[in-house]
Formats: sequence, C-alpha cells, structure tokens
Amino acid sequence: MISINEYDFKMRRAIIRVDFNVPIDSQKNVLDNSRIKAAKSTIFKVINDGGSVILMSHLGRPNGKDLNLSLRHIIPELEKILNHKVLFADDSMGPATQAISKNLKSGEILLLENLRFYPEETNGDEDFAKQLSSYADCYINDAFGTAHRAHASTTVIAKFFKNNKFSGHLLSKEVDAINKVLETGKKPILAILGGAKVSSKIPIIKSIMSKVDEIIIGGGMSFTFIKALGGNIGNSICEDDKLDLAISILEKAKQKGITVHLPVDVVCSKEFSDKGDKKVHNINSIPSDWQGLDAGPQSRENFSVVVKRASTILWNGPIGVFELSSFANGTISLGESIIESTKKGAFSLVGGGDSVSAVKKFNFQDKVSYVSTGGGAMLESLEGKELPGIVALSN
Ligand code: AMP
Repeated sequence: MISINEYDFKMRRAIIRVDFNVPIDSQKNVLDNSRIKAAKSTIFKVINDGGSVILMSHLGRPNGKDLNLSLRHIIPELEKILNHKVLFADDSMGPATQAISKNLKSGEILLLENLRFYPEETNGDEDFAKQLSSYADCYINDAFGTAHRAHASTTVIAKFFKNNKFSGHLLSKEVDAINKVLETGKKPILAILGGAKVSSKIPIIKSIMSKVDEIIIGGGMSFTFIKALGGNIGNSICEDDKLDLAISILEKAKQKGITVHLPVDVVCSKEFSDKGDKKVHNINSIPSDWQGLDAGPQSRENFSVVVKRASTILWNGPIGVFELSSFANGTISLGESIIESTKKGAFSLVGGGDSVSAVKKFNFQDKVSYVSTGGGAMLESLEGKELPGIVALSN
C-alpha cells in the first residue's frame, strides 16, 4: 500500500473515495462534519501539489435515486471546511460528468452524486468501476469506514489503476493505528473488552489472544463469565448458551499466559433506568431481583492499576451502561486511566461502535492516541480479517 505522500499529483486528476456519509437533518444541515474534516488533509495534498480532485462517496442507504440523500446537500459545509469552491456532478455516470472531469483544471474539486443511487456500486460492478476510473489518472482510497466492503468505488476500481493507486492520510492513519496495537505493539499489551454481549466479541477475542498480555472484560459481557465460574449474577444480562465458551476462553487465556481481569463488584439496580435505587454488590452474589449495570469502586480501582501498567491499550466496548448517568462512572474512570497512561507514553486505540460514542460523549477523543473512524472496518481488522479495500490497493 503506497501513501499519497510518496507521489506528486501535479497536473494529475485524482479520484478520491471519501466517507461523506454524514448525518443530515430535515433542513439538510450537516449535523456532524467530522468525516468531512477528516478528508481535508488528503484533498489538500493533491491540490497543493497542483492536481485536481474528484470526490466520490455514498450517503445513507438509498433505494435508487432518492434526492433526500443527494450529496448536493453537503456542498455548503464542504465548501466552508475546505474554503474552496466545489463543482457538482449530479449524474455520476453521465457524459456530462465525463466532460467535466476531463477538463478539470489544477486546483479544481468536483464532487460526484451519491454512488449508492446506482445499485452497481454495492454490487461491485466492473463496468461501473471502470467508468468511474475513466474520470481520473489516479485513485486514492481515504474511506476506511467502507474498506471492508468490496464495492465498486472502494475495491473494484483499484484494478483499473495499476501503479497509480494510493492510501489517503486517513486510511493510512487507521491502518497504522491497528498495526501499532496488533503488530508492533510495545508490551505489555492490554485489550479492554466491554459492551453488552460476549457473542458479538468472540471473533475479536479469538484474534487478539495471540497478541495481548492482559485482557479486561467488563460491562454486560462479564456476567456470562461470572455465571460460568459459578457466581450469582441476579437479574444481570447473560448469554446462557455461551457459558461453555466463556470457560474455554478463560482456559485458553491461561494456557497462553494472558491475565484476564473481571469486575469484582458492580453498581446494581432493580430497573434499567436512572430512577431506581442503586447499590454496590459483590459480582458473585447479586440478589435475584438486582442487575449489574456498571463497574463498582473496587473494580474501577483494579482496572486502573492494570491500565496504568500497560504500554499499548486497545479499548472496545463500554464497561457499563454509560448512556445512563447513574451507570457511566465505570466507563468514565476507565477513560481517565487510559488518558493518564497515554500521557505517560502508552499508545491507546479506541475502536468499534459504542466505546467510540462513549469517548466522544465524555470528550476524551483528543486525549487518547487514536479514535477509529471506521466501526465495521475496525472490528473486522481487529478480528484479523483482511479488508478488501486495503488489499486492492496493494495488488
Ligand atoms: P456493544 O455494542 O456490544 O459494544 O454493547 C454496547 C452496549 O452495552 C452499550 O449500549 C451499553 O449500555 C451496554 N452495556 C454495558 N454494560 C452493560 C450492562 N452491565 N448491562 C447491560 N448493558 C450493558
């Protein structure tokens, strides 16, 4: 995979697959522009070299052409962020687009209409990819969030650029962050796994077993482990069909010399809301009508010690119901320990769905080493899968 830093885009037209799948309100305002901001550095690398740019992305999941999901709506925000005029092609497949792209001058930026207006995009259609490729001299993939999809613009198009295909700055950063944990991570390497269910984390657990030194298991998934070990978890969330699996994970970890840390106490309530009474119980003896919803004070303390001795930290999944303020303290205190460790030189990667939401909610995003932008793509990377969009850049 070659980085755009190794190429001079002077007089070249670069077609860039970006991820502009941003939330938009009914007035067509962009509600969160972070994905647009994240693409800026790659766009300006090409422009500053003296090249021109063709941007392509999807927006939402349209069923055919649905103008509510037109990328035209994001142009004001895009122009504001880039401080640069943006041209728009409302038929990504039409002859007019061919003509505009052919005549693009250095410094010009063209945005194509939502690629998912065409079923060929998600079908990975070769002719569609070829048509897109005909607009440019080189291809840049900067959409890590869709790199796990073998779509026309994320993967298939790369075959039409033999030596002129590159990873954008964002994609490179994501890949580097994963490598810094799973390939070149400095020991001790710690994985923190939380969230509701163990079943959704099985592939990650299996994959990281050969890489990490310690694992913290928190949140809802920890109760399946505690029950499997003979604890009374009361009314807490549990996957009864995964008890044997939990035991086999613990045995495998032991064989590999990995220390697994489970919560020892939990903040419990009789109801899944902020309203009910709250009480800390030993995790092995939760009364039958109570459920554990957050890490208790002793667990937080124990986790903090483990986090602070780690040199590399991967965090996937909250360790309590952080959406409810009464049960957010475990996740907040864990985040604070990770920040402290990061300040002392540890590398910390937050990746995958809800831990990313938690980090954003508590404003930790600038204080850890890296927060992944790609939910599904990050999870598949952590599961040890090769992402088609990344493989395509290397072939
Ligand atoms: P996941 O998508 O599997 O990472 O799960 C994230 C969800 O797990 C979040 O919405 C949390 O509220 C939830 N969660 C964390 N701890 C618990 C718990 N003790 N009981 C129930 N749900 C939990």
